[in-house]
Amino acid sequence: MRINVLGVGFDNLTMDEAVDRGMELLRSPGAHRVATPNPEIVELCRENLAARQAVNGADLVLPDGIGVVKGAKMLGTPLKSRVPGIEFAAGLMERMAAEGLSLYLLGAKPGVAETAGEKLAEKYPGLKIAGTHDGYFQEDGPVVEAIRASGADCVFVCLGAPKQELWMARHGEATGARLLCGLGGSLDVFAGVVERAPKFWSDHGLEWFYRLCRDPRRAGRMMKLPLFLIHVQKEKRRK
Ligand code: UDP
Repeated sequence: MRINVLGVGFDNLTMDEAVDRGMELLRSPGAHRVATPNPEIVELCRENLAARQAVNGADLVLPDGIGVVKGAKMLGTPLKSRVPGIEFAAGLMERMAAEGLSLYLLGAKPGVAETAGEKLAEKYPGLKIAGTHDGYFQEDGPVVEAIRASGADCVFVCLGAPKQELWMARHGEATGARLLCGLGGSLDVFAGVVERAPKFWSDHGLEWFYRLCRDPRRAGRMMKLPLFLIHVQKEKRRK
């Protein structure tokens, strides 16, 4: 059973369990989807029904940020652990490399997915990069066709939320891939365009603060975090 945090149902898994489940989905017939909502996306889902349906319709919904874990705890239904999308992706690539599976990278500014692909192929020997495409295309059809033609087993869809969740729900089947993971800004990190917060910050639940200091333009978006906690408090009282 999923743990409900303000209308979004999260799978209650450790990182290892989540990667195991991802690999199971990758081996099962059909297209499966992974969503990795943080508090900002949960807030977005409260207001946007299509986004909420796309997220809740995923086969695996993982709590990307410490905020979601805190929210679940405040609501009296704790989650085992946070499962950051980017770390889930790393675990998955390690296992995919061991099995010689192939990965398509979709999203980010032109050139970024390509650089990410080169770096990932080096880091995970055995992993096949089936293809790459930037995230600023006008028509979906040719992109879906390129993925299908590449024969990729898995696609990292990094278009930002809720675009990536809606895109996966709409086109997942047609890509022919068995697993599609919505991973936000991960390609920027894999390509080395954006740095992840050093371990100290993430260990103390302050990755969001680090990112805010590095990129103050995120301030508007980050106001969603206190709003999320206010809504959790309200929900707790209502319960
Ligand atoms: N992006 C994209 N196409 C778009 C809008 C965004 O490919 O139409 C990319 C953007 O370049 C970035 C990612 O989607 O690489 C979203 O990054 P963000 O930091 O917003 O995601 P987060 O990790 O915070 O969810």
